Amino acid sequence: MLNFEKVTKELEEINKILDLNAGVIKRLKTPERVVEINYPVKMDNGDIKFFKGLRVHHSSALGPVKGGTRLHPEVNIEEVKCLAFLMSIKNSLSGIPAGGAKGAIICDPMKLSKSELSRVSRGYIKYMGKNLFGSNIDIPGPDMGCTQEVMSWMLDELELLKGFHDPAAIAGKKVVLGGSKGRINSTALGAVKSGLEALEKLDMNIEGLNVVIQGFGNLGWNAAKILFELNANIIAISDITGALYNQKGIDPIDLKEYIDQGNKLADYPKAKIIDPDKMLETKCDILLLAAIQNVINEKNADNINANIIIEGANSPVTIEAESILLDKEIFIVPDILANSGGAIVSYFEKVQDNYEFFWEIEKIEKKLNSIIVENFDKVYKISSKYNITMRMACWFVAVEKLNRAIIYRGKLL
Ligand code: NAD
Repeated sequence: MLNFEKVTKELEEINKILDLNAGVIKRLKTPERVVEINYPVKMDNGDIKFFKGLRVHHSSALGPVKGGTRLHPEVNIEEVKCLAFLMSIKNSLSGIPAGGAKGAIICDPMKLSKSELSRVSRGYIKYMGKNLFGSNIDIPGPDMGCTQEVMSWMLDELELLKGFHDPAAIAGKKVVLGGSKGRINSTALGAVKSGLEALEKLDMNIEGLNVVIQGFGNLGWNAAKILFELNANIIAISDITGALYNQKGIDPIDLKEYIDQGNKLADYPKAKIIDPDKMLETKCDILLLAAIQNVINEKNADNINANIIIEGANSPVTIEAESILLDKEIFIVPDILANSGGAIVSYFEKVQDNYEFFWEIEKIEKKLNSIIVENFDKVYKISSKYNITMRMACWFVAVEKLNRAIIYRGKLL
């Protein structure tokens, strides 16, 4: 489980180099707003069930807050606080004029019918209230368990409450409602691009490299497809149903078609089923983590056998595990850099909505790639200059900017 005190403790590490204002550290260790609601939803069988909705605004120093909405049965307020904090760091690092937020609905979307999921999503917006969200206040986007459809329902509910159109207030909606082209695979594109940058630093080329991917949802599937098209050899993939292995390679497009026909990943006949925990320890060149947090920890870090780990998920490697992996000279592309593609394209989405002028996919992907390359390069140079980890270098860039923004706002005087 993520722990807010533990996650924000890293601020003290970075303070050893940055010499931050003491008030700024306190500010960053205290979320600006924490909202928790319990709201009723009528289920298909007529029963009324209560759902818990969470939203945390961490820091609005750099602009309106923004961040995803997690639909998961085990999500809790502590986790949402951590993720909101990491969004402040990520948005700052990405160069986006936005603060950090995160939201969640405690539910299992797989166990809800489409109409129930629609009422659960709309209820979240309705009971949070029209003043919490808006393009200049807080912009919710998708996270685990959230689809374009869910975000479209949320936008519709919010516009009903407000009484006017405000497409820029919700990210990750359908393109016809003002969503951005390329949003759906933007996190994957950014994750792969940051991995390619890491490969370049290690003098390696993606072609023929063995890849292991944990998670086959929005991020895992889209990243698998991009990597496959780059001629990487995907030897193992897992999701919540199980893990697959085939040394000769798994075709993710064929696997996705199989799943879309109503089958489980674990039943895919063209690979053998292996223990999901053991899958993480498979010898490979790239390990892409695209599922949940804390999957590499003190217990298994020493057994990890990859050259590069791409943290697609948020916080998939614990702080303790990171130092074990670094001792093994594994190159880690940290989450706030590796999965920033979604946040960056959500920002493009807001810009396009505000201008009511939409860009072609080529322009979006080109801009995203150039931001990832620029940020990777900046972080890599700082990591080398101060002899700090890539994660600490990400924090260096992000926190230095937040420090200035908070000081210039003058609230600490
Ligand atoms: P998703 O809900 O579409 O997919 C999650 C995948 O992980 C599913 O395949 C699920 O079966 C699998 N999974 C869940 N628990 C697992 C477990 N214990 N072992 C193996 N697989 C498991 O979610 P997503 O959008 O792909 O997000 C994945 C991760 O990436 C999350 O941590 C999310 O916070 C992070 N992330 C996503 C985005 C985005 O734009 N999609 C942006 C930033 C970060």
